[in-house]
Amino acid sequence: MNERLTCVLCPIGCLIETVRRGDDLEVRGNECPKGVDFAVQEILHPKRNLSASVPLKGTASRMVSVRLSQSVPRDLIFPILDAIAVLRPEAPVRRGQILIADVLGSGADVVATRTIKP
Ligand code: SF4
Repeated sequence: MNERLTCVLCPIGCLIETVRRGDDLEVRGNECPKGVDFAVQEILHPKRNLSASVPLKGTASRMVSVRLSQSVPRDLIFPILDAIAVLRPEAPVRRGQILIADVLGSGADVVATRTIKP
């Protein structure tokens, strides 16, 4: 299976072509070796981060924005969004506060990205 992707590791933005043969990945179009690592990560072990907003406990409209402390395997994004959807942090919340540690055993924490006063 052939796939094309743009390497985002530097401003050059090489257009990379990959050919998958079983567990092997042939990579073309990269101007440096980092492009191979990027393509292998993206095609064989894709990871993503996410951000969301959740209401504070006892309110419908006071929201706190959250993000993951690190990228997680793409397959975990929707299960983690489900876990975040039921989160109702209590004010005050400070920026950087961990709201769910090691969410779903992913190794990533759900952290607040803004401070909410009481
Ligand atoms: S392959 Fe190398 S040169 Fe090309 S965009 Fe990626 S990091 Fe930059």
